[in-house]
Amino acid sequence: MRTQVGIIGAGPAGLLLSHLLHLRGIESVVLELRSRDHAEKRVRAGVLEQGTTDTLIEAAVGARLLREGLPHQGIELRYGGAGHRIAFEKLVPGRAITVYGQQEVVKDLITARLADGGDVRFEVDDVALHAIDSGEPYVTFGGERLDCDFIAGCDGFHGVSRPAIPEGVLTEYEREYPFAWLGILARVKPSAEELIYARTERGFALHSMRSPEISRFYLQVPPDEDIAEWPDDRIWAELKARLETVPGFVLATGEIIDKGVTPMRSFVAEPMQYGRLFLAGDAAHIVPPTGAKGLNLAVADVRLLTKALAHWYGTGSGDLLDGYSRACLKRVWRAQHFSWWMTTLLHTFDSEDAYAHRLQLSYLDYVTSSEAAATTLAENYVGLPYGSME
Ligand SMILES: Cc1cc2nc3c(=O)[nH]c(=O)nc-3n(C[C@H](O)[C@H](O)[C@H](O)COP(=O)(O)OP(=O)(O)OC[C@H]3O[C@@H](n4cnc5c(N)ncnc54)[C@H](O)[C@@H]3O)c2cc1C
Repeated sequence: MRTQVGIIGAGPAGLLLSHLLHLRGIESVVLELRSRDHAEKRVRAGVLEQGTTDTLIEAAVGARLLREGLPHQGIELRYGGAGHRIAFEKLVPGRAITVYGQQEVVKDLITARLADGGDVRFEVDDVALHAIDSGEPYVTFGGERLDCDFIAGCDGFHGVSRPAIPEGVLTEYEREYPFAWLGILARVKPSAEELIYARTERGFALHSMRSPEISRFYLQVPPDEDIAEWPDDRIWAELKARLETVPGFVLATGEIIDKGVTPMRSFVAEPMQYGRLFLAGDAAHIVPPTGAKGLNLAVADVRLLTKALAHWYGTGSGDLLDGYSRACLKRVWRAQHFSWWMTTLLHTFDSEDAYAHRLQLSYLDYVTSSEAAATTLAENYVGLPYGSME
């Protein structure tokens, strides 16, 4: 089998890359470990930056997003018994976020690729990358061989692409956090129209949503928390304790339809390329979800990779491919800082560290009272425009 670009992984990065390449007349084959059903049902991110929404609409995979996505013009920071709105419409006019589940993005992309005759293979095992430092790389899987010009490693943090790069080439930067997020999806109308980021002495909580009928919540928990320790009643009681902290706010409860514990990690591997292998999305970098950046970074990477590959196929010049990692990493590191900063600002750390605690409250007071500080948060949250970072 032969194609132009072999893509490992059918998450948002791999699927969008395949779709954008198709729009430029470049062939690809996507190889995915899990089943289509699994990929389409995996509950993960749900906050789309302005640039991500624009990209999906421009690429003609945004029809359902436009119909069903929930545009939001602000978020609330809740602490010390009061809520403070960060108003995007005032601070960053014309830029906003759209709440639309990652699994819906994945469904739309799979539907589009298959409708266009795209080659997306699910439940493919034993994927291995070969000759990535030659001009003729290839991928083997399940007894078959796929020859290609380039390989895109879009297989997430635990995939096989990054480990295929020889030892000593990559520099890895990592930060672990002393907590995890317990996330639930519940069949209940959101209790507020916008996301609420709540900092309390009991720990952080996030009120979010996926649709007018489905809410998403997160609780800060210890890093290796066992989900079995959290029956539904305990989850609702803790969410109420952390969110019902301002007068008049009542948390609506309902049936919990999905729950899990997600570790919090910051990670970057540089460079995001080696020979004919290019990494994109979580395969190259991870952020804690507090800044809602993971999915959005994956989209930004594959936009750049598409442009660089189209330039190579159109002109024979490898200039943009050579600069791919450098171009991505500026945005990646901005998002790393923002995600780390939001995490540090809103979570409860070691209670013995009274000094750090006071600093945290001081910064929260600043960001909720100074327009300059609030604008910094808002412009990072909705996403810096493409072209401003690369
Ligand atoms: C459990 C979890 C919860 C998250 N929650 C949030 C959230 O609430 N908010 C937020 O902003 N971000 C969240 N994120 C981050 C966000 O979902 C990711 O940043 C985003 O999925 C990145 O997309 P990707 O395509 O790069 O990687 P992925 O979505 O991870 O896709 C990689 C794909 O590669 C496949 N794959 C892996 N190994 C192989 C292999 N050997 N061969 C073939 N295929 C392979 C995987 O099955 C997967 O389909 C979460 C991530 C995780 C893991």
